[in-house]
Order: sequence, then structure tokens, then C-alpha cells
Amino acid sequence: MKRTTANQLEILADWESICERCGRCCYEKYESRGKIIYTSTPCRYLDKSSGFCRIYPRRSQVHPDCARLTPELVAAGILPADCPYVKDIEDYPAPILRTPAKTTGKAPR
Ligand code: SF4
Ligand code: SF4
Repeated sequence: MKRTTANQLEILADWESICERCGRCCYEKYESRGKIIYTSTPCRYLDKSSGFCRIYPRRSQVHPDCARLTPELVAAGILPADCPYVKDIEDYPAPILRTPAKTTGKAPR
């Protein structure tokens, strides 16, 4: 089993704090030829008007397909290229998006 290092935990904590709650990563996606492709279908639990997840604290139980962000998933290109988590990563393998433009601002979930 892989262990999470102190450094990774620090990174994950930072991730929570810099998320802009735009909700765009909560659209359904699939992988094709090593590329992640977003559909225009939002997760059923996404409140599109606020960008918030309606089940955030319970999402692992209620919606097991909800992927927790990990350094590996981010490196695979799961987040939109202008998401704050990845916008400064050189040669980031950005997904193909069929989702709405970023609209909402930062607010607690
Ligand atoms: S795309 Fe980035 S900023 Fe927007 S909700 Fe997802 S993780 Fe947060
Ligand atoms: S369960 Fe919540 S966090 Fe997970 S994809 Fe759906 S709306 Fe997003």
C-alpha cells in the first residue's frame, strides 16, 4: 500500500484552500487514447448555480464514482488547464472540455 507523505498531505491541504469552487471538474468525463475528455453532463449532485457539491462531506459514500483529487490524477490531466491547481504546471496534459466557461467565485462548500 502506498503511503501519503507529509509533503503530499501539505499539498492536499493547499488544494482545498485554492479551489475556486467553479464546479467544472464535476462534469462527467471519460478517457480516450490516454486523453481525458469532459462531457457537457454535470454530476447529478452538482448545484450548477453555486458550483457547490450538494453532498460534499458524504460524497464518497453517496457517489463512489466521485474521484478524490490525488497528485497522480492531477498529473494524468483531470483538471481544466486554467484551474488554480494546475495552471502553472509546465506541459500540463489538459483535458478536452465540453463544459461551460468558469462562472462562479470562491466560496465555502
Ligand atoms: S476545476 Fe479546479 S477550481 Fe474548479 S472546482 Fe474543480 S478543483 Fe476547484
Ligand atoms: S459528488 Fe460532488 S464533488 Fe463529486 S463529482 Fe459530484 S458534485 Fe462533484
